[in-house]
Amino acid sequence: MTGPYEWNPMPHQLEVKCPACQEKAQFEFAEVQKIILKEDIDFFKSSKVFEYRKFQDSCGHYWHGALYYAGLHGDPEITLHTLPKGYTPSDWKHSAYLYRSHGLDIGSVRCDRCGFRGKHSLQWPEDAYFSVAYKNQLLWAFNQESAQELHDYLLSFQREHLKYKWAAFLLHVPTVFKTRKASWTISKQLCGLIEGKR
Ligand SMILES: [Zn+2]
Repeated sequence: MTGPYEWNPMPHQLEVKCPACQEKAQFEFAEVQKIILKEDIDFFKSSKVFEYRKFQDSCGHYWHGALYYAGLHGDPEITLHTLPKGYTPSDWKHSAYLYRSHGLDIGSVRCDRCGFRGKHSLQWPEDAYFSVAYKNQLLWAFNQESAQELHDYLLSFQREHLKYKWAAFLLHVPTVFKTRKASWTISKQLCGLIEGKR
């Protein structure tokens, strides 16, 4: 499950293995907004909550970006008070299921188990907490909810993906995981992850 379709769109938040304790942790993509004027750059560079980065577009042109990590600093509409003219806090607010913006895999990880908080460059699907290896291939799910649906879908008799909230994701589960034998083995492991018994 590494084709472009499964990559994009991805949910804005994912469940990953904590880089510190390997238990289940929350990953949230950072939001980036283009800095409009050159004179605004200093504001973002010196800010405690923003990170300034220079990006290059597909034509080779450079642009200046201000990154905000909601996973570390909270809702931008609550945290951000003073901004240069032309920006609003909602510029850094994500929609429920955001596409990876500008091909960035940057975000943050928060682990309630060990207290880890930090920026993180996502490696997917290697970072996925809900992942099961079968015949040298990796089956993964975005989070607890999609893992539960994947589990139920694999065990279902008719495999009607449209019945599920994560239908588009389930539709692309590779055939190797869908044989009866594979389904049983995988479902058991998924169940262990969902119930927190690894
Ligand atoms: Zn941890």
